[in-house]
Amino acid sequence: MPDDAPDGIDSLSTETRSFPPSSEFVKDAVARPSLYLEAERDREEFWRNQASLLSWETPFTEVLDWTNPPFAKWFADGRLNAAYNCVDRHVESGHGDQIALLAEYEDGSDATYTYAQVKDEISRLANVLVELGVQTGDRVGIYLPMIPEAAFAMLACARIGAPHSVVFGGFSADALRSRMEDAEAKVVITADGQFRRGKAMPLKPAVDEALAHGAPSVTNVIVVRRTGGEVAWTEGRDLWWHDLRESASTEHEPVWVEAEHPLYILYTSGTTGKPKGIVHTTGGYLTQTSYTHRAVFDLKPDTDVYWCTADVGWVTGHSYVVYGPMANRATQVIYEGTPDTPHQGRWWEIIQKYGVTQFYSSPTAIRTAMKWGEDIPAKFDLSSLRLLGSVGESINPEAWMWYRRVIGGDRCPIVDTWWQTETGAIMISPLPGVTSTKPGSAQVPLPGIVADVVNDAGESVGAGKGGYLVLGEPWPSMLRGIWGDPERFQETYWSRFPGKYFAGDGARRDDDGDIWLLGRVDDVMNVSGHRLSTTEIESALVSHAWVAEAAVVGASDATTGQAPVAFVILRGGSEEEVAAAGGEAQVSEILRQHVGREIGPIAKPKQVLLVTELPKTRSGKIMRRLLRDVAENRAIGDTQTLADSSVMDLIQQGLTGRR
Ligand code: ATP
Ligand code: MG
Repeated sequence: MPDDAPDGIDSLSTETRSFPPSSEFVKDAVARPSLYLEAERDREEFWRNQASLLSWETPFTEVLDWTNPPFAKWFADGRLNAAYNCVDRHVESGHGDQIALLAEYEDGSDATYTYAQVKDEISRLANVLVELGVQTGDRVGIYLPMIPEAAFAMLACARIGAPHSVVFGGFSADALRSRMEDAEAKVVITADGQFRRGKAMPLKPAVDEALAHGAPSVTNVIVVRRTGGEVAWTEGRDLWWHDLRESASTEHEPVWVEAEHPLYILYTSGTTGKPKGIVHTTGGYLTQTSYTHRAVFDLKPDTDVYWCTADVGWVTGHSYVVYGPMANRATQVIYEGTPDTPHQGRWWEIIQKYGVTQFYSSPTAIRTAMKWGEDIPAKFDLSSLRLLGSVGESINPEAWMWYRRVIGGDRCPIVDTWWQTETGAIMISPLPGVTSTKPGSAQVPLPGIVADVVNDAGESVGAGKGGYLVLGEPWPSMLRGIWGDPERFQETYWSRFPGKYFAGDGARRDDDGDIWLLGRVDDVMNVSGHRLSTTEIESALVSHAWVAEAAVVGASDATTGQAPVAFVILRGGSEEEVAAAGGEAQVSEILRQHVGREIGPIAKPKQVLLVTELPKTRSGKIMRRLLRDVAENRAIGDTQTLADSSVMDLIQQGLTGRR
């Protein structure tokens, strides 16, 4: 039962399973327990050592300047280039022939790019950008599908010190326009179209529309030919990538920039509010993305085949497809399409095809695979896998167990990585070979990171208590601000708990001191004076054999203030079970009772509504605020960052007449 603490968040979880690392991992892991000790002994020295693994044109002397909080400077007197670190230095050290990218296209065709080839591609594009008048410091928009050119475009920008602003290839013309205007981009790099579920979908028309309505700073549009469809053309402004590429030189000297030179702007996914233009700089960002990628994913660059399924339009695609892995000389898969094209086993087929060793994906993808059924991955050879990762939301313990057993063959450690667009890199995660993992918990701040769970007064909560996740000390890859809005930066992140960064997430500590994320503080509900998070109730629902996915929101209630309302997707094959159990009303009742038994009567949903879809952002996060609108019978709020805008109609139609 929750205690009656006046503040913080109540926690009801009873999860106690734990999995020690295999002896194999303990023996060979990149991460060592001594990392924690080193970082504790001298945090700045620890980060100095990590930063020293990068190649600096001018070595830094000072590690951290925190004289003007919350504005941090890391390695400020050093100079480097991110693209040089991600590409050139590997070619120079004799690894030019190593494959950097294994590109898998949706139609089953593929291509490979070695580090030497990537160097040529990005050098060409860097020369093109310079010729178009892009100078160091100018912003470049990128609006591309998941094809190698997306990584090339980002690295070409980094090469000349022009911050990129990647906009997800599924966003609307309006979303693109507002982001290009906010960043005052000079050039936009796009494609004629992209393949989605076997169909060629146009992309360039959205750029044309965006520029017809605004973003006057954009002088040129570079267009990759991908689908070969007809495109409207604005002479003088629009240029084909392949034409420019042909005449561009592969000789290009990277522009050395100061460590604090902005590397990119990226807008948050907008799960809870209006997206914010997050600014990341070069030296600290590259230090922490490469360090975390190495240690958390146990990267062995000579033998591993790494695959992160994230799109480059999301921060995970920046830090764990482009910058971290490439700085570490990884060989990685980059896949253009959807997980169910042409069949629901596509991802597992890709793992088999390339012998993928590390697989990094999201809870939403795992739950979808659970829904489709475990006989699908069972058809493929997944024995090459040696580590699994998760990011984006809390992973429900049952989804974690499924991931471990069905995909990981009970052999692969799972790293549940907590971080945000704002943190730039992983902050809280088990370390493979060191940490005994727990299903559903991100567990421990990484060496070098200081995190805490506090109550409303900002005091650390004790074991078993819930509260707010805060970061107590600056970290190298922290955001340097919100583009063009220093006050919003201070106000949004540093005002709730003075001197501390408040992430906006709830969390609890267990008896071992491990951290469990409890979901957004915005989503916490107050039920008869108990402050309940969404995560634990959702996990209780997912622990029922019928349930694949669940979203819980607090809806206003005359007696309890707020009451949990659950939206549930059943697993494939459950329909007959529903009928056998006596229909939907009966199933809802069974699931309500199940939650009551699992975590306590207070958490029992007032309603359990069966749906076939849930509203999600492009990065796969459930947008609970829209479900709250449904639960409270309000007009649906802003859906601009929704992956599929028809989902809300489907949900409402499905519920009509049933409530
Ligand atoms: P916005 O801030 O615009 O509402 P967003 O927070 O969804 O958008 P991101 O920066 O992509 O945008 O998401 C970061 C958030 O994702 C975290 O604050 C947290 O709520 C959630 N998250 C990410 N990884 C995990 C994880 N491993 N466990 C629990 N939650 C996670
Ligand atoms: Mg956020």
